[in-house]
Amino acid sequence: MVRQHRAETERFWEKVIKGSRPQDCWIWVGAIADDGYGRFWIPRDGGQRAVRPQRYAYEHLTGETLHPGIILMHVCDVPLCVHATGGPDSHLLPGTQALNMADRARKGRHANASSFRWRGISRAQFHARSLELRTALLEHGWNETTIRPLLINADPDAPTLF
Ligand SMILES: [Zn+2]
Repeated sequence: MVRQHRAETERFWEKVIKGSRPQDCWIWVGAIADDGYGRFWIPRDGGQRAVRPQRYAYEHLTGETLHPGIILMHVCDVPLCVHATGGPDSHLLPGTQALNMADRARKGRHANASSFRWRGISRAQFHARSLELRTALLEHGWNETTIRPLLINADPDAPTLF
């Protein structure tokens, strides 16, 4: 049972590509659902169950079990990100804590956070952007020149390429 669990977590982290800097996103490159978020399929009770990779990563790295009612929010706004250590560097935080972080980022007190690229867009666009990000990572690895613009729209007044 322990062995099976280890194989499962290994399979999970094989589907994640991490940026080189400690503050970078860790991007899920496995299955992506229509909502633009990842899905990790795990065998449970003789069948297959889909879990959200960011929740899986959070539970695995923190050792905490997330109550189903607790929402995990992306401080970085990148839906495929699974950088979920639960610590100060975590890109995923449970509900209210994440809202506080996002608020701080909006007020410009948090240097690394917040792209607006992923805000206020439709479900179809979310899905398209997640696929685009995954494709770029699978084809080129974490190449800053390719990946950065897909994560962050640095200048909101600049014309978008997409
Ligand atoms: Zn992130």
